Amino acid sequence: DLLQIAIDGPASAGKSTVAKLVAHQLGYVYCDTGAMYRAVTWAARKEGIKADDNAALEKMLKNLEISFKPAVDGQRVYVGHAEVTTAIRLPEIARSVSTIAAQVSVRKALTKRQQEIAANGGIVMDGRDIGTTVLPNANVKIFLVASVKERALRRYKENKAKGIVADLKQLEQEIAKRDYKDSTRAVSPLVQAVDAIKVDTTQLSIDEVVAKIMEIIQK
Ligand code: C5P
Repeated sequence: DLLQIAIDGPASAGKSTVAKLVAHQLGYVYCDTGAMYRAVTWAARKEGIKADDNAALEKMLKNLEISFKPAVDGQRVYVGHAEVTTAIRLPEIARSVSTIAAQVSVRKALTKRQQEIAANGGIVMDGRDIGTTVLPNANVKIFLVASVKERALRRYKENKAKGIVADLKQLEQEIAKRDYKDSTRAVSPLVQAVDAIKVDTTQLSIDEVVAKIMEIIQK
């Protein structure tokens, strides 16, 4: 059987790293739904559309093509023909993505696309509302958490490895702010699904988290 596996949780809890590895072990497709919200944010900025303009975003989404293509160094993300893989990770995108993601038109359009991608199973999908809204019948639901301090530290190290100097306190504040916005929005907020299994990664290595999730899947 090809399963649907949902991995949700707050910002920088390690969802994408872990989801990618789990998908690889199972020979499944990995879908990063956060990248889709970021791609919409990138396109809106390019079009000069305000992050809270629900109607303009709805119109833009009618003709917006977001696609993923596998590559040796991971997945590439495209908006139409434009490759946006690195552009969607910039801080200015992170700052407005939660406002974009709170718009009803955006959630509706992306939820539908995500359900189409996952329809045949054989998928590991990560995000905020996969277990609650996108795939309420997913075979396995994981809710990944870690302390804000630990998540900021991981982001800090990631940035440093890329040669970006970041302020640890500021990273902590930005993560907390995004979590707050994602958890308090009206439509499909970030919340653990009742049937999800919580995995706290604060004290765990990536390999330990992957092993734990594989164990849950194989049960
Ligand atoms: O996962 P990532 O941090 O890249 O997601 C960026 C933002 O996209 C989140 O902070 C949230 O606002 C939004 N998002 C969402 N629902 C999802 C995935 C991401 O609202 N399923």
